[in-house]
Amino acid sequence: MSVIDAHDPNLVVGVIGAGTMGRGIAQVCASAGIATRLFDTDPAALAGAQEFVGKMLDRAVEKGRISGEAAEAAKANIRPAKKLEELADCGVVIEAVVEKIAIKEEIFAALDGILRKGAILATNTSSLSVTQIGAATKRPESVAGFHFFNPPPLMKLVEVIRGLKTSEACVEALLALAERIGKHPVACADTPGFVVNHAGRAYMPEGLRIVFEGIAAPAAIDRIMKEAAGFRLGPFELLDLVGLDVAHSVMQAIYEQYYHEPAYRPSPLSDTRLAAGLLGRKSKQGFYDYRDGAEAPSEAEAPPAPADVRVWVPPREAEARRKLQPILAAAGASLESGEAPSAEALVLVAPMGEDVSSCVAAQKLPAARTLGIDLLLALDTRRVLMASPATTAEARRAARGLFAADGAKVSLIEDSPGFVAQRILAMVVNVACHIAQQGIAAPQDIDTAVKLGLNYPLGPLEWGDQLGPQRVLTILENLQKAYGEPRYRPSPWLRRRAELGLSLLARPAEG
Ligand code: NAD
Repeated sequence: MSVIDAHDPNLVVGVIGAGTMGRGIAQVCASAGIATRLFDTDPAALAGAQEFVGKMLDRAVEKGRISGEAAEAAKANIRPAKKLEELADCGVVIEAVVEKIAIKEEIFAALDGILRKGAILATNTSSLSVTQIGAATKRPESVAGFHFFNPPPLMKLVEVIRGLKTSEACVEALLALAERIGKHPVACADTPGFVVNHAGRAYMPEGLRIVFEGIAAPAAIDRIMKEAAGFRLGPFELLDLVGLDVAHSVMQAIYEQYYHEPAYRPSPLSDTRLAAGLLGRKSKQGFYDYRDGAEAPSEAEAPPAPADVRVWVPPREAEARRKLQPILAAAGASLESGEAPSAEALVLVAPMGEDVSSCVAAQKLPAARTLGIDLLLALDTRRVLMASPATTAEARRAARGLFAADGAKVSLIEDSPGFVAQRILAMVVNVACHIAQQGIAAPQDIDTAVKLGLNYPLGPLEWGDQLGPQRVLTILENLQKAYGEPRYRPSPWLRRRAELGLSLLARPAEG
């Protein structure tokens, strides 16, 4: 099947919808030297978009990012269209109107009658089926998703979504067009949330679940995920930035589209917070308070290190003993070496996916004096301690003082299978493995899409490799056992690789 040549210097691109996304997409295409037609049913939106793009380009000149000539050329490349028929000479049309299937179907049916043979009809939809939109035309082979991220001029990623009837030539042409306009394309299958919005079903939802269970407060979870796990924003800072209304509707849409897959169940916390208008930055109140004069939540100061403390770590936890020994020694505590703790020793366990209560019960430890410490991540910046319902205030205070003695930050959370970072990261990896299992995108592409689309410090599969697939599997198995919920069941794709000792990013054997 013949399709347009994405490198054709005379290629004309049409953009339908001049809102948040459409205007940005038009700016990107025009800046790449492509003649761009911009159409919107609302003349005010069209005029607003032209003014907005003009200002953005002028600002780029002021900041020295582009030359004045380049900005003027880009402005001249955008031509507003009054009627859809004015897009007849476009080789590619990118639709970015409201997220309503009936409106998109109507536009695609109309475009089908307007565009020449071989032209590509693309949609920027975030959550609707590309295949269903293609079915509104007589040429579903020429219909694909071309999913930009907000704001299009800044975000490098574009997902190229293959509908069930999209031709390979159409996908290839859009991959080439994405590169021509300076983007990094990732090809993926037409499934709910595609790659990025699907992969995002772990970080914020699992954070919400941890708050819902009273394990830790939002600010405490954010500190752990930023300082111990290296994320740029904590899950609650991210929720406030995106807006709970937007984030919750994505969570709900993907949960519904996957027929109530337990791993993607949204949190009941969201509805009441939405009803209260606690949307985040846009309403000035969310998980944080953004009103004038509001103070950022501060962290309680750690108590002083206790004197003459004896600490016992189960001898079978050799790695924990090795990692904790220098920290304890620096704090003036002694690490006991006996098979059982002495009568006054503080007991530390280092569970993976288990809570302190089950460690106490399984190993018959003194509940009042036992705490957990998370050894999944480095211990240099922030250390995460976990208490059971039986841990006394005195033991909690002693442990906090001990681990803060060298100036490191300490978080103390309530009992949780998998602390905070273990369970959030294990879920991030597991969701990516679900995506890989379904063949939605190649493993390397999943990681690239998540890094570029969600700004995670590492791709989820790379995280899995770094933590160790077997360890991630153990955390998930223990979480599943603790909660008895299929939400945490490990992906078979992860299990196989963990059992075979394979990297999650290993390329599949050929043949
Ligand atoms: P928006 O509300 O800012 O803009 C939509 C524009 O479409 C409006 O200007 C409206 O007048 C116009 N419009 C409505 N019906 C039309 C029609 N029949 N013909 C022509 N124009 C019409 O919306 P947005 O945030 O830019 O989202 C547009 C699309 O992009 C949606 O499918 C959305 O899911 C997707 N998307 C949005 C984001 C985001 O962060 N906002 C990110 C990625 C994808």
